[in-house]
Amino acid sequence: MSLYKDLTLPNGVRYSQPIGLFIDNQWVASSSGKTFETVNPSTEEPIVSVYEADEHDVDKAVSAAKEAMKTWRDVPGEEKAQKMIKLSFLVRENLKLLASVEAADSGKPYETNSKGDIESVANYLVYCAGFADKLHGKMIPIAKDRYAITKRYPLVVGQIIPWNYPLSMASWKFCPALACGCTIVIKSSELTPLSLLVFADLVKKAGFPSGVFNVVSGFGASAGNRIAEHPDLDKVAFTGSTATGQKVMKSATSNLKHVSLECGGKSPLLVFDDADLEQAAKWASFGMMYNSGQNCTANSRILVQDTVYDKFIDLFKVEITKSWIVGNVFDEKATLGPVISKGQYDKIKRYITKGKEEGAKMILGEEREQLNSLPDKGYFIPPTVFIDCKQDMTIVQEEIFGPVVAISKFSTDHEAVEKANDSIYGLAAMVFSQNFQRVQTIADQLEAGSIYLNSSNDEDIRVPFGGFKMSGIGKELGEDAIDLYTETKSFYMNVGHRI
Ligand code: NAD
Repeated sequence: MSLYKDLTLPNGVRYSQPIGLFIDNQWVASSSGKTFETVNPSTEEPIVSVYEADEHDVDKAVSAAKEAMKTWRDVPGEEKAQKMIKLSFLVRENLKLLASVEAADSGKPYETNSKGDIESVANYLVYCAGFADKLHGKMIPIAKDRYAITKRYPLVVGQIIPWNYPLSMASWKFCPALACGCTIVIKSSELTPLSLLVFADLVKKAGFPSGVFNVVSGFGASAGNRIAEHPDLDKVAFTGSTATGQKVMKSATSNLKHVSLECGGKSPLLVFDDADLEQAAKWASFGMMYNSGQNCTANSRILVQDTVYDKFIDLFKVEITKSWIVGNVFDEKATLGPVISKGQYDKIKRYITKGKEEGAKMILGEEREQLNSLPDKGYFIPPTVFIDCKQDMTIVQEEIFGPVVAISKFSTDHEAVEKANDSIYGLAAMVFSQNFQRVQTIADQLEAGSIYLNSSNDEDIRVPFGGFKMSGIGKELGEDAIDLYTETKSFYMNVGHRI
């Protein structure tokens, strides 16, 4: 049976979609023979069915990764770097294909969103390739005739990915892991399996040996959990919701494997009375609605100083209306695609109803004219803005993960910080003020892993990224990512005769 399926995507791109599991550089069917369907969220139509990995398949993939480590660990860093650079070229050569697959499978507008995601994968491969031959340890002087050195060792790793940036989020994990010489078993989200499968063929083409990079498509409770608990994996890296992150951490206790978690967020954006309000409105709109609000660092809470509250809201409303054109992801004008699934659509709708019931005022959202402009099918939700929100409202406290923002007021700097920190999450925070001293003082008090001063969601691959509190453990991106994928061994060097 063929493990490829010929497909034509809605923008006319024709290609052969791998549908198997990628283990030991081979496409294989799942041991159970089971498959699952992936759906285009813009049309609600199935795209294709792919093989579904269960625990046995994960075991096979882990065995392949473990075997590959025996030789891959000794391959010189320069050679690993060259393969990564080659892979980045292959990603660029296949940018149209990968971005089209991503747009169809995850509902990202092709022009304004999915192309950028794929470019970021190519860029991050190059960035991390630079580390492959620079994985230095340290020399630590202890005494005149005694010192220690440290060396870094790669790990056999499991990686679990969400659906909101399917290939890009995967790259935040596999790029540093490949640079460090790790071998990998990676699981995509069951909602967006396609781009990682297309990418796996490129990994093989770039010359990575069998077993270094293995892909298992499948569900969380079976394949995901097996990765988290697997006794032969040294580490699990997870991105997804906080609730699942907790489960992953629990399962990982089976062999005390290393755990890094990138979880949920409810990031506050603070607008002070001395801010450039037009700039604040533009960034707040971008940082909230990009990717239909399905962004872990979306500034989904906006806190505005009472003296500039009305003015900011007017500007924000104009900005939202102007910038976000809801539509089919292959329509060049569309800037806002559907949300990922029927489940997510229903969940967001429930939050909107809850917001109204709890007394928040909806000034943009399900208005008739916006609804009329939406496509007939697809999980589309227009940008939805609630104002006059209170701190204890559900839409202020919980992560909605859709294009819904909750705006409220504060009077003093102290109140702004208190409200901003009143959350179980601590992923990001944004501060708008033109008084640098004030900005710095406020920012120092905010409980968040990334602080954006006078901007929002403009992260860079060179800068560490990761959450405080229940938003996660460990930092991805930047040099810090290398620490996630190596284990340090200390060597005591006695050059004297001390005994
Ligand atoms: P999710 O938690 O539902 O699923 C994430 C992944 O975990 C999927 O691959 C899923 O199959 C797997 N999974 C589910 N149950 C599992 C289990 N018991 N054991 C192991 N794996 C399991 O999250 P999602 O809905 O795919 O993604 C949205 C969430 O991801 C949001 O909360 C968002 O904030 C978060 N996110 C965080 C970051 C970050 O960097 N902090 C980035 C992107 C998304």
